[in-house]
Amino acid sequence: MDRFASVEQLKGVGEKSKKMLEKLEIYTIDDLLTYYPRTYRKFEDCTSTEKLKEGETVAVCAQAVRPLTVQYVKRMQITTACLSDGSGEVLARWFRMPYLKNTVLPGNYYVFYGKISRKGTSLILDQPAVYQPEQYEEMRKVLQPVYMLTKGITNHMLTKLIHQAMKEIDLSRDFLPESVRQSYHLAEYDYSMEEIHFPRDEHHLKLARERLVFDEFFLFILALKIWKERTEEKQSAFKMKRDELTDVIERLGYELTGAQKQVWAEILDDMTGGRVMNRLIQGDVGSGKTIIAFLAMILAARNEVQSALMVPTEVLARQHYEAFHRLAETQNLKICAVLLTGAMTAKEKRIAYEKISTHEADIVIGTHAVIQEKVSFDRLGLVITDEQHRFGVRQREALGEKSETMPHTMVMSATPIPRTLAVILYGDLEISTIDELPSNRIPIKNCVVNTSYRKKAYDFISREVKAGHQAYVICPMVEESEMIEAEDVISYTEKLKQELSPSICVEFLHGKMKPKEKNEIMERFLENQIQVLVSTTVVEVGVNVPNATVMMIENAERFGLAQLHQLRGRVGRGGDQSYCIMINGSENGSNQKRLDILNRSNDGFYIAGEDLKLRGPGELLGVRQSGAMEFKIGDIYSDAEILKKAGKAVSRIRKEDPELEQSCHRELKERMDFYMKNELKNLSL
Ligand code: ADP
Ligand code: MG
Repeated sequence: MDRFASVEQLKGVGEKSKKMLEKLEIYTIDDLLTYYPRTYRKFEDCTSTEKLKEGETVAVCAQAVRPLTVQYVKRMQITTACLSDGSGEVLARWFRMPYLKNTVLPGNYYVFYGKISRKGTSLILDQPAVYQPEQYEEMRKVLQPVYMLTKGITNHMLTKLIHQAMKEIDLSRDFLPESVRQSYHLAEYDYSMEEIHFPRDEHHLKLARERLVFDEFFLFILALKIWKERTEEKQSAFKMKRDELTDVIERLGYELTGAQKQVWAEILDDMTGGRVMNRLIQGDVGSGKTIIAFLAMILAARNEVQSALMVPTEVLARQHYEAFHRLAETQNLKICAVLLTGAMTAKEKRIAYEKISTHEADIVIGTHAVIQEKVSFDRLGLVITDEQHRFGVRQREALGEKSETMPHTMVMSATPIPRTLAVILYGDLEISTIDELPSNRIPIKNCVVNTSYRKKAYDFISREVKAGHQAYVICPMVEESEMIEAEDVISYTEKLKQELSPSICVEFLHGKMKPKEKNEIMERFLENQIQVLVSTTVVEVGVNVPNATVMMIENAERFGLAQLHQLRGRVGRGGDQSYCIMINGSENGSNQKRLDILNRSNDGFYIAGEDLKLRGPGELLGVRQSGAMEFKIGDIYSDAEILKKAGKAVSRIRKEDPELEQSCHRELKERMDFYMKNELKNLSL
């Protein structure tokens, strides 16, 4: 079977499950194989009967104090056992399993594994599985994969499909040249795939993960280098007349910061210099990147060149569009901008397309998918992507192909990546840094507390709302999950509605909602019809509601520092004192240490640097901390060492065999061609 064939080829995948898998972005067998577990679960240590708590899944090592009894209740056989482990006793109950009477014998110890529920005043172990103690010990060594799921797809289904895929695909073909594998002590490919999904133990998992993280970085860096070489040094068809835009800048109502001025000067040089611009703009949250994008687009418009500003979410698209509209209106700029998003009606879209193709519109602001799909420009000479970590090179290239010649590109990222890593990842791409915040900002006040502080936090939110402000509460999950214990948006909203006064409007927002619903919620929040917004990290990117002054983050320990910093950046955007309350839901000291970094500093670059120092590898079993960039398995922070190695390996290959022509690189070349065509889009530039 072909690795890149549709998942439909697998047994048990029909039309319906195919659709559901697509929600997880699994289209091909390869997607399935690289759908790595989010975390791993171990069978628990045995618990003593004194410590049992309702609702927990436990293992109890105990003996039956007397023979099991079987009763009939409404024609159903119920088997009951009274178990003792020396410290105390607990009842166990099974439905329709009378034969246990003959296998669970008094005097012998067994491990009973199941969930504790309440029956009247006492606790009961419900339907536990029964194991011999030695057998259970063996099982405890194995790690069970836990995948991110969606409605209709269970962990068991994914596990089975991946097992099947592994049998069908020849994993022994390793694209990584033997010499690279040897130099960096990397495991074989087939071994790594097997162990990443079904690890024998933590040691094997670690080796497998190292190899796969290496692959991911290696392919990305190599692809970027090749892509860069192909596009570099191209003369631009959109050489612009120099215009400092002093008239616009003077009337902004604020003074640009030194860093903003510097970056604007760099962009101006690029766009008027004759070569194709290829620039990454890194700036901390709230450093004022949007205005820089607007200036570049205004310059283009004045040169009769069209530009596109692409963002990852509807909410952000609308926000930017409205901001630009206000700017153009107050300054009477005579520049026409149109909005283009998936939630617009077909008619609205048609009107926008028309304006773009006739060049009535100078500027298009919208979500990337929509801009790319059907738009034909008259003269597209500048493409800007905001919140870079969700975009890929390939997408930008596709857009570029629409105009006869390559447009200038600018990528804006609010994820400060330490310089040392940025250089490895982006190579010699031009990088501008806005490392200064506007001077009128009041620093955010932070605190890291445990869950017992919640009541106080709610009181605090109530007071802020009374004073006319608004608050965000972030939870890691959308819905309740049986596999992972963390706060979820939906139940939390219910809880919060009861905790807060009924006059406070509490609503939720998450990524699985329809675009229309999301827009509506965001709009109502923007207009202060909603005072408290309970949300997943969908609000993390770029949202600007300056009236919000409180950011409360539940299970803060589950987020990466970069992400927390982004979330915090949603407040402190207006003239009022803002607050960030991070609830640490774990008792683990290293989490506290990590969160303390945020508590201490509001500076994204400092945080990124500290993060790098603190987070060694070895967070194998934690929930994946999605950090700066959306790699499938690698994390540029905690895997910085592997990233460096991958960077070195790429340099070596580029030196020895730049075109990948040698026979030992044949597999790699094949893999690379495919990667450039299909996968780069999932990654960032
Ligand atoms: P980000 O870099 O996070 O995208 P934005 O561009 O959204 O930040 O800017 C955040 C806010 O700061 C906006 O309301 C913007 O108008 C304002 N702003 C930008 N530059 C300055 C400045 N130099 N002085 C004062 N306010 C500024
Ligand atoms: Mg922004």
